[in-house]
Amino acid sequence: MHEVNNDTWRVAVVGSGPSAFYTAEALFKAAPNVQVDLFDRLPVPFGLVRGGVAPDHQKIKSVVKVYDKIAASPGFRFFGNVCVGRDLHVADLAGRYHQIVYAYGCESDQKLGTPGEELAGVHSATEFVGWYNAHPDHRDRTFDLARAERVALVGNGNVAMDVARVLLASPDELAATDIADHALATLRHSRVREVVLLGRRGPAQAAFSPKEIEEIAELRDVDVVVSAADARLDPLSAEWLARDGARSQQRNVKFLQDRAALGPGTRPKQLVCRFLVAPTELLGDAGRLRAVRVQHMQLVADADGTPRPRPAGTSEELAADLLFKAIGYRGVPLPGVPFDEKKGIVPNVDGRVVESPGGAVRVGHYVAGWCKRGPTGLIGTNSLDAKATVEGMLADRSAGRTLPAKGGDVTELLASRHIDAVSWHDWQRLDAWEQEQGRSRGKLRHKLPSIEQLMQVVRELRG
Ligand code: NAP
Repeated sequence: MHEVNNDTWRVAVVGSGPSAFYTAEALFKAAPNVQVDLFDRLPVPFGLVRGGVAPDHQKIKSVVKVYDKIAASPGFRFFGNVCVGRDLHVADLAGRYHQIVYAYGCESDQKLGTPGEELAGVHSATEFVGWYNAHPDHRDRTFDLARAERVALVGNGNVAMDVARVLLASPDELAATDIADHALATLRHSRVREVVLLGRRGPAQAAFSPKEIEEIAELRDVDVVVSAADARLDPLSAEWLARDGARSQQRNVKFLQDRAALGPGTRPKQLVCRFLVAPTELLGDAGRLRAVRVQHMQLVADADGTPRPRPAGTSEELAADLLFKAIGYRGVPLPGVPFDEKKGIVPNVDGRVVESPGGAVRVGHYVAGWCKRGPTGLIGTNSLDAKATVEGMLADRSAGRTLPAKGGDVTELLASRHIDAVSWHDWQRLDAWEQEQGRSRGKLRHKLPSIEQLMQVVRELRG
């Protein structure tokens, strides 16, 4: 800790995922005498890097080394196991900090809005991803993989790729990662043989990154299967791809057309890529999913020539034992913070929180990352996003537009409320413990899936 005095600029950040760390980094670069306190409702840091990035993507997870360096800055403090909105209120923070940054991401998921969404066997990717990553919110979910051979996967973004890969990979390939024990045990009994990816637009508009779909084709037992009809580009998309298509979209189309030319393949498991299909109804038997009705779509140019999906007037029924919705995350409101229900984000103008869309700026309150712009972009996107928010914070500070920060240190308040906050030092010991426990189990890390279990180890490690 560095010395805190009257000149110290105090910033609270709600959340400890990538955008929270990049916000802290930009603040430390900008000002020598700044104290940045990160609050997380979980006892562990790193948001979606820990609870979202797939266990077989350790290279992506290694970005935490950058966050460790940021956390080593003298003005950095971590308060894990502190839920803003329950243990601490926004008003508590507003009394103690000059500026507050909301960087709490998008913790919920979009709904399909079709009949049958409540059937057993229908899940969101958010739940599944949290479950296999030992996220405490999702540890009690159950996925009946032992009875499922065919899974429908709605949406074809990179989250869908993660879900498809985890469903189709050999459990042995996942065993040495930091996957949750309960997930590995369930995956070992999985009978899933086919995942059918349902994209509502065409191959040129697939939302996955080329690397992600190519990685699935590299799995030992899996063929990526695309029919010639599905791989074919409609004239509008062909023209759009040549004119406006990104290199990644061109690479996706080439990959899909090459796969179509190879035919169905011979490996025991398949990822079948369907395009121009959108679910309209989930059909069940005795309360359990049995099929999904999809309507066929066609692409129609909008005013600026961009192809948009429209119903083509025909439909089909696809048998499916389970269905996962990977159609995007969605933000949730934080008590005391404005929320734009339509967009599922904290309303803001360039990172400055506003009372409502188009409303007045709430002085001293900012937003960064997914709860600022919505759930898009890769981890690195949040670095630029956080820098832009911090620019506004710096300008406001120079102009004297901050909160008064007259209250005492937050640690006193937490102690008076008997909140057992996890410090960065606590986390470092837990981190070492998780890795050590992992080594003794032949995996990279052993993650305990409940807040109570995590806190018990934190307390034991304090001695
Ligand atoms: P995404 O990339 O926005 O993909 C969402 C998918 O759902 C799209 O295919 C979208 O179709 C579809 N969709 C949305 N609403 C739908 C509806 N009502 N019916 C049918 N389909 C619907 O979101 P994501 O996969 O959740 O990923 C979020 C962000 O995290 C992305 O930026 C992603 O790249 C990133 N991420 C990266 C990695 C990685 O690099 N390994 C891993 C995971 C996530 P349309 O395109 O037609 O809207």
